[in-house]
Amino acid sequence: MAAKAAAPAAGKALDFVIASNLALLTDEHLAFCKAQEVLLSTSLDGPADLHNKNRPRPGGNSHELAVQGIRRVQQVLGADRVGALMTTTEGSLDRIEEIVDEYLALGLDGIFLRSLSPYGFAIKTKQFHRYDAKRWLAFYERGLRYILGINRAGRHFPEFYSALILRRMLTDRPTGYVDLRSPSGIGLGALVYNYDGRVFASDEGRMLAEMGDTTFELGHVDTDSYRSLILSDKLVDLVASSLTQCAPECSDCVFEPHCGADPVYHHATQRDPVGIKPLSEFCARQKGVMSLLLDILERDPQNAAILRRWGGL
Ligand code: SF4
Repeated sequence: MAAKAAAPAAGKALDFVIASNLALLTDEHLAFCKAQEVLLSTSLDGPADLHNKNRPRPGGNSHELAVQGIRRVQQVLGADRVGALMTTTEGSLDRIEEIVDEYLALGLDGIFLRSLSPYGFAIKTKQFHRYDAKRWLAFYERGLRYILGINRAGRHFPEFYSALILRRMLTDRPTGYVDLRSPSGIGLGALVYNYDGRVFASDEGRMLAEMGDTTFELGHVDTDSYRSLILSDKLVDLVASSLTQCAPECSDCVFEPHCGADPVYHHATQRDPVGIKPLSEFCARQKGVMSLLLDILERDPQNAAILRRWGGL
C-alpha cells in the first residue's frame, strides 16, 4: 500500500491486477479486492470440455470453478472488474464460435484471440508445434468475422488484439502494449519482480528462466536499484538490437510503423533476439492480421465503421 500512497505525488496512475484461475476464490479475497480496488484477470479457453482439457486439475472442474469465480467477482466487485484471456490450442481451431459465445454468455466485454507462445503452458503441454501461423490466421479470420457479426447486431464486443493494432494504425495514441513496440518494451515498459526477488525484463523472460534460460534476467531486488536494472548492459544490448526500423526485412516492410520487435519470442524460437523474419511465425501472423484489417477497412464500409470504433476513432 506504500505504492498507493506514493503514486499521486509521482503523478502515476496505479492499478493492481491479480491473475488467478479463481479456483480457490473466497469471500475474504473478494472483500480485500473490493477494499483495495484490485482487478482480477483469469483464463477462459472456451466451453467446459476444451477448458478442462487445456487446464487439468483434480476433479476435472477447472471450467466450472473459473465460471463460478467470474460470476462472483462480477456480482461483488462489478461487471468490469474481471477480465479473461483465452489461449488457442489445436482443439480451439474449429470452435471459435463456441468460444466467443462462452464469453458473451458470461457478459465479458470482449475477447483476445491469442496464439500460443513458445514458453510455459504451450511447451509443457507440447501444444506449441501443433499448429502454424497459417492455421492460426484462418482461426483468427473466422473469429473476427463472427465477432463483427455480433457487433453489427448491436452488441459492442471488440476483439482486443485487432483493437490494439487498429489503434496503432489509425491514431497517434499509445497502446501501452509491450509486445508491439520498437525499440522493444522489455524492461522499458515492463519489469517483472519474481517471488524469489529475481527481476526479469518481461513475463515471457521469466517463463524462459523457468525453462533454464536466463537471458532476460536482469538482477535481484536485494542488490539492484531500478536505475541499475534499466541501465544494465544486458538490457541495453537487447533493446538496442531490437529496433524494427533497422532490422533486416522489417526496415523495408510496409507494416513496420504498426508492428514491433519481440526479442523474447525470437530468442526463444530462433536463438536470435532480432530474428530471421521470413522464418518467424510472429512476423507471419502480424502480416496476416494487418493485411486482413486493412482489407476490411478498404472494402467493407459497414465492418470498417466497427473497426474504426474499436481503434478509438
Ligand atoms: S510484419 Fe514482419 S517484417 Fe514487417 S515489421 Fe513486422 S516483424 Fe518486421
